[in-house]
This record gives sequence, structure tokens and C-alpha cells, in this order.
Amino acid sequence: MTASERIARAEEILLAEHRKSLRDASAYELHSALSKACMLEIAPAWRATEARRAEGKRAVYLSAEYLMGRLVFNNLYCMDILDQAREMLLEKGVDLALLEEVEDTALGNGGLGRLAACYLDSAATHDLPLDGYGLRYRFGLFKQKIENCRQVEVPDDWTRYGDPWSVRRDELAVVVPMKTGDVRAVPYDMPVIGYKSGKISTLRLWQAESLQELDFRLFNEQKYRLAASRKNQAEDITKVLYPNDTLKAGKQMRIKQQYMLVSASLQDMLRQLDAMGQPLEKFPDLFQAQLNDTHPSMGIPEWIRLAEARGVSFDQALDLAKRIFSYTNHTVMPEALERWDMDVLSSVQPEIARNLRRIDEACRRECGLGIVEDHQAHMARLAVYGSHHVNGVAEIHSELVKKTVFREWYEKFPEKFVNVTNGITQRRFLGLCNPELTVLIKSRIGDGFLTDLPQLKNLLPHIDGMKEEFLQVKHEKKRRFAAFLKGHAGVEISPDWIFDVQVKRLHEYKRQFLNALSILDLANGVRDGSIRDFYPTVFLFGAKSAPGYVRAKSIIYLINCVAEKINADEQLREVMQVVFVPNYNCTVAEKIIPAADLSEQISPAGTEASGTSNMKLMLNGAPTLGTYDGANVEIVAEAGMENNFIFGARVEELQALRDYNPRAIYEAEPRIRKVVDTLVDGTFPDPDGGLRELWEALLNGASWHRPDHHFLLKDFLSYQEARLTANRAYRDRQHWAEMCLKNVANAGKFSSDRAVEEYARIIWDL
Ligand SMILES: *Cc1c(COP(=O)(O)O)cnc(C)c1O
Repeated sequence: MTASERIARAEEILLAEHRKSLRDASAYELHSALSKACMLEIAPAWRATEARRAEGKRAVYLSAEYLMGRLVFNNLYCMDILDQAREMLLEKGVDLALLEEVEDTALGNGGLGRLAACYLDSAATHDLPLDGYGLRYRFGLFKQKIENCRQVEVPDDWTRYGDPWSVRRDELAVVVPMKTGDVRAVPYDMPVIGYKSGKISTLRLWQAESLQELDFRLFNEQKYRLAASRKNQAEDITKVLYPNDTLKAGKQMRIKQQYMLVSASLQDMLRQLDAMGQPLEKFPDLFQAQLNDTHPSMGIPEWIRLAEARGVSFDQALDLAKRIFSYTNHTVMPEALERWDMDVLSSVQPEIARNLRRIDEACRRECGLGIVEDHQAHMARLAVYGSHHVNGVAEIHSELVKKTVFREWYEKFPEKFVNVTNGITQRRFLGLCNPELTVLIKSRIGDGFLTDLPQLKNLLPHIDGMKEEFLQVKHEKKRRFAAFLKGHAGVEISPDWIFDVQVKRLHEYKRQFLNALSILDLANGVRDGSIRDFYPTVFLFGAKSAPGYVRAKSIIYLINCVAEKINADEQLREVMQVVFVPNYNCTVAEKIIPAADLSEQISPAGTEASGTSNMKLMLNGAPTLGTYDGANVEIVAEAGMENNFIFGARVEELQALRDYNPRAIYEAEPRIRKVVDTLVDGTFPDPDGGLRELWEALLNGASWHRPDHHFLLKDFLSYQEARLTANRAYRDRQHWAEMCLKNVANAGKFSSDRAVEEYARIIWDL
């Protein structure tokens, strides 16, 4: 289809649906018409991909989260028509940038949900038969505002601009049985468009609806509220995404969500098996199901329920399950592993609780280890036992999985445990969000890297001759981000300063708190003259906290207080500025990551399973200022220690640390004492005691943890040294550019293309 035919089609849709021309279309109308024109255009390829996949073995990704981001630009980009469409529309007097208002599809919290989205993108691009199943939440992750230095949550009405990229598939609806009332699961299909591949994968999202739209009897009896309540009760199941990242949400509603996801998805796969005329025993040879964390692990007992209903014995059903499922673990922190009370499970689906007990018994018979303990189902143990492979998400993490949380399980089933280091899609996180750097790279090595990232290695011989251009590109991206920030948050920053960036969910283990304390110490150093020639730096934070995570919210408050204080100080504001960028999401990520000079990845060694923002930032030429943790280890192995700034204790040291005494450090180090005490000495207003609580957590601990359990004080001085080293290194612009480009050139390993290929080969045997 030519560009003008495509635009003509959009114009027709606009006329039919809104009686408007392009020029007077609103953002909503333009978005709707253009997206629908694209949906028409890709329909044949989508149908063909679906038909071909229906014939053979394929894998499905089961995930409670998909952080898709804004769809429209990425979809145009993957169809390879973005630039064309922009130009054509401009000729018609329409600026495609109008669509910058369109909401993100944020049906996920952070890394785990974004990973799912990246994997679907890579599979479609490389024609690997992988489709996704998830939930169509009415409200995605909340939007964040900052008021009086604090996070305020606003509901995320992501379909406010319509949902032209979904197709409702009423004919494929299934009934999900629950003790609390059966619900109808209606699938909405989203295309995942392979980059220039002509292949389209499907993300099938289930929406909960009532079996009965309206209870007429009650309605006629004029019991209106009661009549509607059934409908609401059903719809509530997919009303909101749980905004908890890693912390468990002990809620019956969460169990309903998880159960609905797996029951509807397995029923859907069984329907396809039947359509192929294949017996149940063939299921593992035709479907491989990847559990993205334990959220979909109820799929194992649900599979057994569905298989038994088809006349298969329990033992055979369990054997089949072990050939169908695989499990990706995302954390070794014990408090973040899901456990459900058996009573609560029973109240939603007694058969699932019963099957869990039978699986537990089978497991105890087979290997002596249990899944259900103290009336709680340990979902990670279930996932390990019911899967043929268990993978960690970075080398260091996969080793820790075997040595710590699943040590006993590893001893019983060593052959199950493998590593697949996470990856990110270079289409969204380089091609789309940084066309300037993409053009520069293309000018030296062609454009093969967009589908084969290791080709970036070919840049190495060109680095010397690209430094100037790289610095220009970086400056341009910083200028652009500065302009965005002015509009988005009303804050002005200078593109001539260092952009020091920490963007990720707010979590204690990610140590944004350490970053904030460190900034206070740098400020003290600048003020008292012990730090001289400090290169002017903007410290940028972007992070959402789970709404109920009190301490994380106090850390957001602290960062904003530090920002106010420093930005108002006559002397300090000459060389430093602190900015909390509100509402960090995929779209903000795409703007800030190309502009970053330094990538803050500062979790204590052994806590961040992989991290993926570290990869996105590396790919955009930001050296890592980080600990030896997660994928940072592999980033340094690829790009060289000398091109990054690594600090802090190693995991072996932290594990061997017996009587860690942060108070001794606090008392011995006046610099540390000074910044820690700003939490309680009246420097910042603390009406609710949140800052004092942070102080207490560091020095005295809390009922549920030891003092400073994330080792802020232990790594503090080493962090400061690394920060100053980076700050000084930035002055040598030529050498800095070389470091950045070495990171770019060595980022090839971190593509999700490589990661899905490994899943397909090592785990799914596709
Ligand atoms: C990549 C990404 C993340 C994950 O960041 P980590 O630093 O790996 O935790 C979270 N949120 C968004 C919006 C992302 O794009």
C-alpha cells in the first residue's frame, strides 16, 4: 500500500466516523482513524501468521502484566511507515506529534511487564511462534503527580483515546468457574507487529464480564442496585492492575485475577488443540507455556482440573503439566515470593486448592519437599515442581537462585535450572526513541543491528571518528528532553550539564535513598570546598511507589525535599540541580534514556535480579554507575570495567557479613552522620514522621528487619568515590565519548532478540 493510499483510507474512516477532515481532527479522532487504517492494512498478515502458527508447535507467554507503552508510534515504526506518515500528514497540515497526548497502555508495573512486551516484539520480528496471554485491566498502573513533594495517585484511564489497536473477540469468550460466581472472560486481541517482518503476533487480553448483562427479575422488582451488582462483581475482577511491584498483595481479588488469566488461556489453547483434531497427550508437543513469575502458576493445578475433566488421570495430567510449563523467576528476595492462604484459594476455586494439595502430596512422595506448608501454598515451589525448566534472568541471579531460595529444589532437580539473561528490544529503545543515534550508527555499519544487535560490534573500528558526532547527538537528545521536561513538569534544566539518571520503580532495594543521601553529601562537599571543580550535574529521578508502600513514599518525599533545598541554594544551584520527573512510564523512559549521561544502577549486590533499564541506557551510550549486581555484571564483562563506574561490596562479601553494624559507620564517619542526621534535625519538614522513620530504619532497624538491611552506609563512601570519578571523567569530552561508544558497541548481547531465541532453543524446543 502506498503512503497516500493509506492516508486516504484514514481520511475515509475519519469522514465516516466523525464527519471531519484531517485538518480539523482532534488528537482522539486522528489517533482512531490512523490506527484503524493500519489495522485494516495489517489484517491479512495477521491472519496469515495466526493460520500458520495454528499448524505447529508454539509457545505462549503467560503474564499478569504487559507494559506496552504508547502503541501508535511503535506500531507505525514496526510497519516501517512512521517517517512517511509524518511527512504525508505534514503536507496535509497535520502534525503527527499531536498524538503525543495519547495515553500509554500501561498494563504492568515495571521491568517484569516491560520484559513481556519486549519478548513479544522480538518474537514477531524474528518469526518465532510466540503469543501472549494477559488481562485487560480497565485501569492500568496509576498516573503519578507530585504535590507538596509527595506522590499522588490518579487513575489511569488508558482507553481515553479509544482502543483502536484491539479487536474484541466475542465468539472466543469462555466461562471461568469460581465459587464466588462464574464469570465470562472475553478476549481482546492486540497485534504485535514484527519490525519489517510481515509477521504479527497476538497479545490476547481477557476482560471479565458478567454471564448475565442484567438480572431482569431483580430489575423488574425495582431492585436496581442489586440487579447491577452481579455485573459489577464480575467486572471488578479486571478493573485494576495491582500496583504492587514484588510486594505481595494478600487479596482475594488478586487470586481471582490470576485464576481467570490461566483458566481462560488454557481453555483457549484446548479449543485450538481440538480444532487441530489432536488428543490431550499431544498438548506439550504443540503448546509450551512460559510462566512470567509465579502470578500465572495456578495454571498448573488448573491444567490438572481441565485435563481430568477430559478423562485423564491425575498422574498423567501432572506429567503433562511438567512438559508444558516453564517458570521464570524474577526475585530471590523471600518476602517477595507469593504465598496464598489455602482458605482464600478455596473460597475462590476449591478445585484449585484441592489439586494443590494433591500436587503437594505427589511432590512430597517424589522428592520429599513440600509445596503447601502451614495452610499456605508456596507458589514458587509449585512453579518449580510443575515446570520442566526454571530460569533466572541474569547469570548472577540464576546462580543465586540455585544457591539460596531454591537450594533444596536445585539439589533434587538440577537439570531444570537454567539462565536466560533478560534483554530489551532495540526497536523501541533505540530505533524509535533515538533516531539521531540510529542514523549515526547506520552511517558507519548499515542498519542490520536493528534486527541483529551484535552487529554493533562493527562500530569498534569507527569509534575514533564518531566521537564528535556522538557528542552532538547526545546534546541534541538532552536539549529535547529539557524541552519535554519544561512542558511536562515546568522545570528548566541545562543540556550542558551532566544528566545523571536513576529511573525505575521506587523500592528500598533499588536504593534511591542512597542516591538522595549521596547528593546531600556532594552538596556538603561543594559547600565546604572539599569538592572542587564539580562538573555541573542534574540528578534526575523517575519512580513510582506502590500506593501502600509507606517507606517508598517517604523516599519520594525526601528526594523532592532535597530537590527544593538544593535548587533554592544560591551557591549550590550553580553546579547541581535535583529533579524528580513525575509519572515515569514507558513514554517518559523513551525521552529520558537517550538523554542520559550516566546510568544509576545501585542496588546492593545480589538483590536486582537483572535490571533492564541498565541495558536501555547502555544502548543509548550512558556508562553505568553501579554495583556488581544483576545484568550490570554482564554489561561490564561486555563493555569493559574501564568504561563503567563500578563500586560497592560484592555479593560474596555481603553474604559473608555477619554482624553488620551501620551505627559504627555512622559514628565513625562525620560526613555520613551529617547527611543521615538531616533526616531528623529539622532540615526538612517532617509532619508525618516519615523521614524519622527512614533514619530509624538505617540505625535501629524495624520490627521486620535489621538496621540498614540494604547496606546504604556500607557502600556509601565507595559510591561517593565512583560518583566523583565519573564527574571528573566527564570533563575529558573525547575520552568520555569513547567510553559511551564502547558501551553502545558492546550492547549486542542485551537484545530481547537473543533472549527469546534462547527461550525457544533451550526451554521451548521450538
Ligand atoms: C525498563 C523499564 C523498567 C525497568 O527498570 P529497571 O531499572 O530494570 O527496574 C521500569 N519501568 C519502565 C517504564 C521501563 O521502561
